[in-house]
Amino acid sequence: MSEVLVLVDHADGDVKKPTYELLTLAARLGEPSAVFIGAAAQSADVAAKVAAYGAAKVYAIDDSGLKGYLVAPKAEALQQLAAQCSPAAILVPSSAEGKEIAGRLAIKMDSGLITDAVDVVAGDDGPVTTQSVFAGNYKVTAQVTQGTPIITVKPNAVTPEQVEGAGTVEEFAATVSEVAKGAQIVATEPRKASGRPDLTEAAIVVSGGRGVGSKENFSVIETFADSLGAAVGASRAAVDSGWMPHSYQVGQTGKTVSPQLYVANGISGAIQHRAGMQTSKTIVAVNKDDEAPIFELVDFGVVGDLHTVLPAAVAKINARKG
Ligand code: FAD
Repeated sequence: MSEVLVLVDHADGDVKKPTYELLTLAARLGEPSAVFIGAAAQSADVAAKVAAYGAAKVYAIDDSGLKGYLVAPKAEALQQLAAQCSPAAILVPSSAEGKEIAGRLAIKMDSGLITDAVDVVAGDDGPVTTQSVFAGNYKVTAQVTQGTPIITVKPNAVTPEQVEGAGTVEEFAATVSEVAKGAQIVATEPRKASGRPDLTEAAIVVSGGRGVGSKENFSVIETFADSLGAAVGASRAAVDSGWMPHSYQVGQTGKTVSPQLYVANGISGAIQHRAGMQTSKTIVAVNKDDEAPIFELVDFGVVGDLHTVLPAAVAKINARKG
């Protein structure tokens, strides 16, 4: 069976959930091989984690000579690895970094690239992808017709499946050109941890809009989110009012999320907001106006004041947790 390379998304060896999703998709196409570009000392630990999601092989690329140089060296390393193992496809997370790596890799390998897939299945002539476009109003089915298919996949495209893989570690020594070292990172500062999952990766997102009423009132949204272990999002109206930072904005000019569950609270459902959330698997809205457009796309709607509904929901959820 042909190998399918999966670029491991991680922060200092802490493997992110999209990696496991990609491994699950890779198993549909061939034999999943994880590619870990990171510290040599972390490779055994990372290998154990990805093996639990079906990685048969783990290529460990020591990044001591690459890190600090943005994405170009990673694309070179992947190209060299692909030249050695001739994979059937290469799957990369659809993060800003992942898409830049994939774009550079596609040019280097003279291969077709598909970005932001929300599903990947095996076809007769290679992987077949689904993309959700025009604010989720159209689904596009596509296939790479030249070279090695390089596909970036959005988080939450699939539920990761735990399947034991061999996880055999193979070290791969990449050589990085001077050109790839053309841009250097001069400082990094970790973002203040909120303790909540990342907005674009979270399985559950709880968002608040203008209906929340004030910055202080956003604690109602946060408390509800925490009861579900969810990430917090916001509409542009809430962000423009200064209630939440821009990094929380969901929509056309904010983040695109596709969680298993999206709960919109005090959000009317403008087209620009929908653009960032309408591929969510289940959509719930709480709005006091029963004619709010958001109710056109929900699976479950609650007509009511969020300041009454959400605390009542929190009490029930916490009681269930016992
Ligand atoms: P409103 O539309 O004011 O809706 C508030 C809702 O809260 C109403 O439905 C009301 O019934 C309900 N409500 C009020 N009080 C309560 C209560 N106590 N309990 C329950 N419900 C209550 N918007 C985005 O969100 N993301 C984007 O990325 C984005 N990009 C844009 C880009 C462009 C170019 C443009 C022109 C606009 C963009 N917008 C974006 C703005 C968008 O058009 C809307 O203005 C915005 O989404 C409205 O936010 P909202 O739903 O929170 O507010």
